[in-house]
Amino acid sequence: MSNKPVRVRFAPSPTGPLHMGGVRTALYNYLFAKKHNGTFIIRIEDTDQARFVPGAQDYILDALKWCGIMPTEGPGIGGEFGPYVQSERKESYKPFAEQLISNEKAYYAFDSAEELDSMRDQAKQMGMANWQYNSITRTSLKNSLTLPQSEVSKLLEAGVPYVIRMKMPRNQDIRLHDIIRGWVVVNTNNLDDKVLFKSDGMPTYHLANIVDDHAMNISHVIRGEEWLPSAPLHVMLYEAFGWECPEFAHLPLLLRPDGNGKLSKRDGDRLGFPVFPTDWTTSEGELYSGYREKGYFPEAFINMLAFLGWNPGTTQEIFSLEELTEAFSLERVAKAGAKFDPDKTKWFQQNYLRAQSNEDLAIAIGKLTNGSLPNEKSIQIANLMKERATFVQDMLSDGAYLITRPINYDKETILKKWKSETFELISDWLAEIKTITEFTAENIEVTFKAFLEAKQIGIGAVLQPFRLCVTGVAAGPGMFDISDFLGKEEVISRIEIGLIEIRKIVNEA
Ligand code: GLU
Repeated sequence: MSNKPVRVRFAPSPTGPLHMGGVRTALYNYLFAKKHNGTFIIRIEDTDQARFVPGAQDYILDALKWCGIMPTEGPGIGGEFGPYVQSERKESYKPFAEQLISNEKAYYAFDSAEELDSMRDQAKQMGMANWQYNSITRTSLKNSLTLPQSEVSKLLEAGVPYVIRMKMPRNQDIRLHDIIRGWVVVNTNNLDDKVLFKSDGMPTYHLANIVDDHAMNISHVIRGEEWLPSAPLHVMLYEAFGWECPEFAHLPLLLRPDGNGKLSKRDGDRLGFPVFPTDWTTSEGELYSGYREKGYFPEAFINMLAFLGWNPGTTQEIFSLEELTEAFSLERVAKAGAKFDPDKTKWFQQNYLRAQSNEDLAIAIGKLTNGSLPNEKSIQIANLMKERATFVQDMLSDGAYLITRPINYDKETILKKWKSETFELISDWLAEIKTITEFTAENIEVTFKAFLEAKQIGIGAVLQPFRLCVTGVAAGPGMFDISDFLGKEEVISRIEIGLIEIRKIVNEA
């Protein structure tokens, strides 16, 4: 690594919400910057006005904030290299495009969209699928390389619309080094004369990206693999300007869990998991769900994302952001696409939920229940439910019986497991419960064991029917703990009601 100060940027285009792949790119940039005492910058690349989506920029910044990976320079944050939104730097790009023209690295092209479309159609009819504006075709098109200088000046003066294109040389090998992929060599015969400056007075992504990376002293470009094909052009632009090229690292694609395709925004809703960090509603009112609203903790989401393409080389999987910063290196990022695993994502969330203190979970429960439960109760609910839950809301939905009496009883289990003698056994057990003076989990357990012993029966004959009466469901945390939590009076009346309700179910069957 060079000893230039590390300055990296995440450069999203505000063309929609930030896909989780984008969050991973931001995360790796963040981790790399922190690890090397560098600076993490966000730059909004909005030069493509046609694809601009209102609200997307705020969405991106809000999502990064939720993830806890805020940049140190960026829009709304400041920094000495601003503005950090390309449309606000609009005036700065044209002189660079013109500089390329005077250096004969670029040229004016006056072909109209219709003319180019008709070229494409003709080529197609002749069996050439991908017609390109390149070092061969440009010789017969309308540009400053084919037209006489006087004609070019006339067209420019008359205000005829033009674009500025890169003059791609013939048959040159462009070599670039990528930290993740090693040396990449591309021959310029495979590259077209990309537009650098558009007729609407805006630069294209390529020109603006290079000009700004240089202006902002970017040391490393860490971005998705989909930008690798653009990298040779970028290297040529750095050379054309005589600027030092930053180091490159192109991150592996995120793949769908059910195949090898790229994880797209449609996959999430099709397969039942979010693809976006936070909810996003399109202007047509279509909702794409987000990790935040589904109840994921940002720490769990970030931990999961870090592992999509990187691993620490040890068996440790749970990492705080600080630990990730410590462990992260681009050298340990894989080349191959990373398959997204929704189950593993839940596993991370479960781990983070379990690691939270009951007191902290009680605060989250308090928010979900609008403070309707006493805090002490919420702490106990967290204690009882957290081992079996994935999300905070699971503790309330799966443990609804901790708050209100059951309305429904699990019919399927009752019909399978409830025997004719069970009614009498539960009535006898109820009588025992009534004798317990100090109604604690330990005392209930001691009494229960003595009851089984006296009756000479196994645990299964009573425990699940007891549970069904009290909770209505077949599984949950320990029944002695649940009983302790509910209190003696409540347990007694729930058994009494449960026996009546279950008898109805059995009789109706
Ligand atoms: N604006 C590009 C994007 O939307 C940035 C690519 C890059 O980082 O160079 O992803």
